[in-house]
Formats: sequence, structure tokens, C-alpha cells
Amino acid sequence: MKPLTAISSALVGATFAAASPLPNIVFIYSDDHAYQAISAYGDARKLLATPNIDRIGRSGMRFDRCLVTNSLCGPARATVLTGKYSHLNGFVNNWNCTFDGAQTTFPKLLQEAGYQTAIIGKWHLGSEPTGFDFWQILPGQGRYYNPPMIRMGREIQVPGYVTDIIGDASIEWLRTRDKKKPFLLMSQNKAPHREWAPALRHLGADGARRYSEPPTLFDDYHGRGIAERDQDMTIEKTMTYDRDLKFKPQSPLTPEQRKQWDAYYEPRKAEFQTADLQGEDLVRWKYQSYMHDYLATIRAVDENVGRILDYLEQEGIADNTIVIYSSDQGFFLGEHGWFDKRWIFEESLRAPLLVRWPGVIEPGSSNADLVSNLDFAATFLEVAGVPVPAEMQGRSFLPILKGRRPPDWRQSFYYQFYEYPAPHRVRPHYGVVTNRYKLVRFYGTGEDYWELFDLDRDPQELRSVYQVPEYATTVAELTQELGRLRSILNVPVGVPNDWYGGTQTPAYDGTRK
Ligand code: CA
Repeated sequence: MKPLTAISSALVGATFAAASPLPNIVFIYSDDHAYQAISAYGDARKLLATPNIDRIGRSGMRFDRCLVTNSLCGPARATVLTGKYSHLNGFVNNWNCTFDGAQTTFPKLLQEAGYQTAIIGKWHLGSEPTGFDFWQILPGQGRYYNPPMIRMGREIQVPGYVTDIIGDASIEWLRTRDKKKPFLLMSQNKAPHREWAPALRHLGADGARRYSEPPTLFDDYHGRGIAERDQDMTIEKTMTYDRDLKFKPQSPLTPEQRKQWDAYYEPRKAEFQTADLQGEDLVRWKYQSYMHDYLATIRAVDENVGRILDYLEQEGIADNTIVIYSSDQGFFLGEHGWFDKRWIFEESLRAPLLVRWPGVIEPGSSNADLVSNLDFAATFLEVAGVPVPAEMQGRSFLPILKGRRPPDWRQSFYYQFYEYPAPHRVRPHYGVVTNRYKLVRFYGTGEDYWELFDLDRDPQELRSVYQVPEYATTVAELTQELGRLRSILNVPVGVPNDWYGGTQTPAYDGTRK
């Protein structure tokens, strides 16, 4: 991190205090957007350029270790709103949870403090949004093309591509807002969530490019336990031809949309059927197809981020608006042979986080402290000068944005995942994460066991050293720290059976919660 000098920090603070209007907050949140697929993060594979998301980082701060409390869509969103872990906000899994909208959330508190609040796009919490002056959400997971949406309780049908629709509605709300009030806009994309269906204008955008493979694409899970071996989320076995690899067209498409869809996917399918691939070649073909689709969806996300940034500039409010780009969790892009998320491992645990606030955040800075989606609520409240309720478990990282990390900032982070066995058979686990280590306990399936990873020596997390004698002291220290965190975070000792969730593998039909 490039530290601000004491003098410039003081000046920034003074300017901010004198300027006085409360800052606006634009929170742009995507679904399953891996940091590896943002060029500001400099992934070794150089998967794609995201010039507009990078604008946020270039003019603000990039966080390199923003960790999520429970790496799953609904639970992450509930944590963002409440500033609490799943076991306290009640949204522990995606299958049998409905968000209790009577809870205290940061949008409600901002609204009470005079902010105008809106949420547009993916919601995924079952109940209707509360604490928003305006809301227009996708039901359930939402659809990529011509999606139904619910606007203030009424279902509407919107033609077009979901990311453009969310961008359009976000800008329309900004245009028509009450300009006398500060505002919170939560603009939340469906993309790049499974099944990674791109805007039709971006089909084939990368031509015949072959993407670099991650070094662990053919991971054999040696050196780890049954959880890693027995999951159901590999590109090889779990990825479906019809839906994920687009052998069947998305629904609903207009005849014109269908023509564009077929023009790209039919030749791809025909080429595959002729090739008769086997073994590793088959996995490689699936990985390449996955990357072409997943990355193409992000092109529209990036374009719409650019449109929102442009609007703020044209409107003359960019200097008094804090812009956040993040995702509900990370995502595996072939690492360990996987897609999806859920695990405590880095690609899943770490969400991208870029924050821009002219005059407050030093442009082009980066930070490696352990921050979390748990901290967003407290941070936004402090930005708005609203006291943070004691029940919130996160901590404002506004001082870090200003280049002044508090000396007692967290050095360890608690993680817990519940949803099992459907849909991806990732065993429930919890653990403690530090800058160097992860101590993990797998529980709830009758195969209770522990793993320890040393990220300094094993950044790809391929070998548990829990049983290695030289780590005995580390294991003892981290076990104690884990107990301390569980205690101060009020984690219940036992997990009720219904917290694990469903046993059926549901269809992603865009209508369920
Ligand atoms: Ca997600």
C-alpha cells in the first residue's frame, strides 16, 4: 500500500469536512465474479481486459484480501446488508432460507439518515427488499435474456440482456432521483453467474483464442482429505453439456436472438461432436468453452460499469460519490479442476473489491489487510456519519481507505460454510484464516477432520500440513484463535440439521429463491 503522508491525510480530512455534503454511495455488485477475471488484479493468465472496472482501481484502492463469511450467493448478500455472519442473520444457505427483512440493515439506517436508497438487479434473498425507496429485482436467480423483474412489488417483463437492463435501470434511477438528497444505489448484476450466457453482441468476442490453463486444472487432490476428492463441482464431471456448455439454447429468446445464438453455438457444438475428444483433451475443451462464455459475460458488466462512471462524471457528482465494485464471492476458473465457489480456498474465499473516492482515497493504491463483506455495512454507515449498531459484527474500513490502518485491525478471520449435500457436495467446514495460514475443520457428515494450509509455502493450497510435526505449535495457536473467534462471534456449538439445506439438485430455472 502506498501510505498517505500525514500532511496530505490531514488536508484530505479537512477538505472533506469543509465540503460537508454527505457522499453518495454507488455499490456495484456482481455475482460470482472471480478476481482472476479483472485485469486490475493482474492474473497470470491475463484472461481479459476490464478497462472500466480498472478505472475504479486506478482512481482508488484495490483490496487484495477481501474475504467473505460464507462463500455463497444468498448468504453473502445477507451479510452485506446486516453486517452479520450467517448464523446471526439467519440466511445460512440458498435452499431453505428466506431473509428476514425486519432486521436492521445498513440501507434502512441510511434511509433514516436522509439518504435516498435503491436496489436494482439480483437480490436472491426470497423476501421483498426492505429499506429501499426504489427496488427492481430479478426473481430468484434471474434470467440472462428478456428477464422478468419485480419493480416495487409488480412483475414486469423487460426485453434485452440482463446486464444492460440493470445498467439502464440504474442510470434511469440516478437521472430521476431527488437531487437534493444524498443517495445509495446498489446496482447488482446477475452476471457472470452460471450458466454464463453472454450478451449476444459478445458471442465469440475472443475468436479462437486458447486461454492459459491454471496449473491445477488436473489436480488429483493428493495430500488432502475426502472433502476435496468427493465434491461434485469439476469441469470434467459436473459441467453439463446442455446448459453449461450451451448445447441447448437459453430460454426465452426472440427469433432474432435465437439466430445470433445459433450462429455462434451451433458451429461450436458441431466441431465438438466431430472431434470425439477423450480424457484430458475433453476437459481442456470444456475449460476453453467455459472461459469463452464466462469471460464474455464480463464484457457487458465492464461496459455498464463504464456507463455508470460516465454518468457520475457528466452529472458533476463523481467527486462526492464513493464507488465500490465487488462480487458476492470469488469463483474457480479451473483451479483444482473446478468451477463454482463454496470453499475456504482463496479463489472462492476472496472477493474482488475496488473502491474509488476522489480526494479521500489515494489513486492507484492497494491493500492486503484482511477486510470482509462483513465490514461493508459498517463502512458505508461511517462514510455517511451514521453510528454503527453494536449488533453489527463487521468493522468500518474507512480508516484503511484513508491510508491509516488502525493498529488493532484484525489479523485473523472466521469462515463457515453450511450448504450440503446439494448442489455440489462440498462438505460443511469452518476455519480461521490469517495472512499465512488456514486451519479448517470439516464437520457434519460423520467424517470430522482437520486440515492446515501454509500459503507462504503452498499458495495453491495443495497439501494439508495438519499432521506435520513442525506445524504442531501453529496448529495449537490457530486452534486457540479459532475458539476465540467462535466465542466472540457467538457461533453456536452445534449446527441445526436444517441449516445444511436441500438434498435435491434443483434446476436453475430462474424462478426459485
Ligand atoms: Ca454468487
